Amino acid sequence: MFTRYFSTSRKVLTGSILAGLLVALLCGMLQFFLSYHKREVRFDTLIVDLRVYMESYFSELKTSIDTLQPFILDSCQEVRDELTSRAAFSLNVRAFLLVKDNVAFCSSATGAMNTPLAELIPTLNVNKPIDMALLPGTPMLPHNPAIAIWYQNPLVKGGGVFTSININLTPYLLYTARQDEFAGIAIIIGDTALSTDSNRLVNIHDLHGTATRSTTLKDVPLTINLYGQAWTIDEILFALFFGLISGIAAGTLSYYILSIRLSPGKEILTAIKQGQFYVVYQPVVDAAKLEMSGVEVLMRWKHPTMGEIPPDAFINFAEAQKLIVPLTLHLFELIGRDAPQLQTVLPAGAKLGVNIAPGHLHADSFKDDMRQFGASLPPDHFQVVLEITERDMINQLEAAPLFEWLQHEGFEIAIDDFGTGHSALIYLERFTMDYLKIDRGFVNAIGTETVTSPVLDAVLTLARRLNMVTVAEGVETPEQAAWLREHGVNYLQGYWISRPMPLGQFLKWQPDFVKDSE
Ligand code: C2E
Ligand code: CA
Ligand code: CA
Repeated sequence: MFTRYFSTSRKVLTGSILAGLLVALLCGMLQFFLSYHKREVRFDTLIVDLRVYMESYFSELKTSIDTLQPFILDSCQEVRDELTSRAAFSLNVRAFLLVKDNVAFCSSATGAMNTPLAELIPTLNVNKPIDMALLPGTPMLPHNPAIAIWYQNPLVKGGGVFTSININLTPYLLYTARQDEFAGIAIIIGDTALSTDSNRLVNIHDLHGTATRSTTLKDVPLTINLYGQAWTIDEILFALFFGLISGIAAGTLSYYILSIRLSPGKEILTAIKQGQFYVVYQPVVDAAKLEMSGVEVLMRWKHPTMGEIPPDAFINFAEAQKLIVPLTLHLFELIGRDAPQLQTVLPAGAKLGVNIAPGHLHADSFKDDMRQFGASLPPDHFQVVLEITERDMINQLEAAPLFEWLQHEGFEIAIDDFGTGHSALIYLERFTMDYLKIDRGFVNAIGTETVTSPVLDAVLTLARRLNMVTVAEGVETPEQAAWLREHGVNYLQGYWISRPMPLGQFLKWQPDFVKDSE
């Protein structure tokens, strides 16, 4: 039982550690997943916002360009002022250039000119209705990248409007710098890209990493790439921390729950509550008349999973766990419950042997408990005999007044397992004991080991001289019974008479040993 106790506490510990680890893993993963999901949602929102913003910008630009398209039919002188003021009032526009016969002839910034568009921006394809290019700078702002856009005039071959607009990623840089999961954005036109990584144009192959999100605008050949961090240190730390805290909490909780459910101490209380204990009765017969004079009550524990647990194990254990008092009170309760039926087969004055563990004997509540037990039995019917082992008397000299009190209250006392303890003979004189139960070890030896018989003989002589009534335990054979009867033992108990029986069986019990002995 004790090794079981330790293995149980190890089980509790292992179980709780496992539960803690499992919960830590689950919660950590859940937290990872949640923050991953949240970040994905933020990426989606940001890329959609960027696209919507840029698409509306370019659609507005297209609208204002459309109003400039008729100007290509006029001379630069006629339209220049108008062109300049339109450029001034268009957001981010550096310059509008009017193109006729593939030649730029008028600029909102510099006035009349005569440069073929192919020379100005070689990458632009004037045969397309709309084309774009990224420029490292423009003549006025040579170090500030710009977007060049070509809008072909659908009615005039080789004619159209060309414009350069500011491209400034600083706001995005500021935005993404504040969000630690965003690494940056890049604007891509053709093979060229401008990213928040640097303020110079780069080839798209020189962009760092793969984009988390990428989108191309509806009407213009411009792609936006969004770069993001797979995991941020903060998120990893938070998930680890969250997992750790949840794991510790779960481990502690399961330790608490498992200790309550599995701890053997509590198991005894649970077993009492769930009625797993029951009692059996073993008849004790008068050695001379071979008639039943009483019974010894023995406790049994039928555990739902471990089966029958021997009383030696659970009694000792209950004592170690300081649960012997509730256990004995439960025993009293079980006896009290059976008493009315016992009364039908046991005559008035029949002895009811009850084992009392030393732990209970010296408990504060002992006297009250005994009084209540006595009161729970049918009045004046049973003679309760408390079976107390030799060892308890040696240890407890104060037992003398207690024994006096018990006898005064009408209880009788038997020394149980006599002969197995240390030299208790001296205390036999000191205490008044009613019965002496000779341990079955002596009885067992009868007929097999001649040496023991003289010892038993001496014990019996001593008992007689002390005026004590003797009970022989563990009588298993007719030979043992015969020897004991010859030597004047008063009562016999053992398998030869009967094994301990549950109440139902005991009520129907018919002795058959008498016939054998005759
Ligand atoms: P015990 O008080 O000496 O009880 C007698 C034991 O001998 C019982 O074992 C009984 O079943 C067994 N026995 C009876 N006749 C024979 C026989 O002919 N041959 C053999 N080999 N054995 C026989 P059990 O019921 O296993 O109880 C063992 C011990 O546990 C008891 O020894 C007693 O010290 C303790 N115990 C049992 N029930 C209780 C109880 O309700 N309270 C307390 N405090 N102790 C109890
Ligand atoms: Ca006993
Ligand atoms: Ca005994």
